[in-house]
Amino acid sequence: MSPSTIETVANLIIYIFVFAAGAVIGSFLNVCILRLPRGESLVKQNSHCMTCGAYIKHYDLIPIFSWFFLRGKCRNCGAKISPRYMLIELLTAVLFTGVFVKFDTAAYGFLYPMFACFFLAAVIVVCFEDLDTKSMSISVLLWMGAFAIGETLTALLTRQSNYIESVTGISLMDRIIGMFAVSVPLLLIGFVITPLIYVYVISDDHKERRKLLKRLSSNLAPYDETRVKSALAKVDERIKAQGPVYGFGMGDVVLMAAAGLMLGYKSVVTAAFIGIVLGGIYGIIVKSRGEKVEEEKAEPIESAPISEPSDSEPALPQNSAPTSQFAFGPFLGIGIVTAVYVGNAIWDWYFSLLG
Ligand SMILES: [Zn+2]
Repeated sequence: MSPSTIETVANLIIYIFVFAAGAVIGSFLNVCILRLPRGESLVKQNSHCMTCGAYIKHYDLIPIFSWFFLRGKCRNCGAKISPRYMLIELLTAVLFTGVFVKFDTAAYGFLYPMFACFFLAAVIVVCFEDLDTKSMSISVLLWMGAFAIGETLTALLTRQSNYIESVTGISLMDRIIGMFAVSVPLLLIGFVITPLIYVYVISDDHKERRKLLKRLSSNLAPYDETRVKSALAKVDERIKAQGPVYGFGMGDVVLMAAAGLMLGYKSVVTAAFIGIVLGGIYGIIVKSRGEKVEEEKAEPIESAPISEPSDSEPALPQNSAPTSQFAFGPFLGIGIVTAVYVGNAIWDWYFSLLG
């Protein structure tokens, strides 16, 4: 066999092994996504059917394949098993294999691809958590940060950083800039600009509060003063119930800081751009659908007496601050996953268009 044949065979064996390992880890990620938001132990309990509670036999726990063998049904009660478990296993396996195809171990060694895989695994967990619960586990975010910092330090200590830079074009400086390139703007937009816009432009409660405060500061008759004060207390209560309105979660900020440190600024800016475009399209679709649903709902009620719609009242502040109800993480996740493979290529292509 020629050396190139041996290399091809060796690579194939590595890819098959990585695919299998990815599927097994993907099955563990399913457990994380399901149990972490509920504060359940990751190791104590065996996997069980969500419908009948029967423990799943070890031979039915083969990642990806078992779902097909069982035709997506529980062996015990026949309840449908969501294809999502299988798809997350498949996704993890494919993404891991993709990393090892892109970052050839002959050129990079195993360290960077392995760190990249662990990083992607953490991204998968927080994004699906965000999709399910609109929040991300702090522990997984910390792990993600640890992978990114650990990878950077390892590259420095083993003097691999120059080597990785020569092959990927991502320098240490690119990574340090990358850590702040998206996370700081997200922090400003999410925790400064959005709350200010909400308080001064969108929120009717805050408008009313300012009006009432203005009236209080002018000379009022004692009777009027108590009335205004009680109105103010009511508005304050509503504002308190609504809670603070942020544009992005802290999870999004940490996610993009870790991704920037791992991938460099070009890739992380590309990732954010992809995430914002996809999230924006999704937001528009959801909003136009929501309006349609409301129109359909509104028509038959025409004959109903026009009264204070007390039921729909809590929905209003949510609509006026859609970002607090909107899981942005999955879109950033799609951007990050794309950027791991082709982030720098997209960036360079875009700027070559500009000349
Ligand atoms: Zn069952």
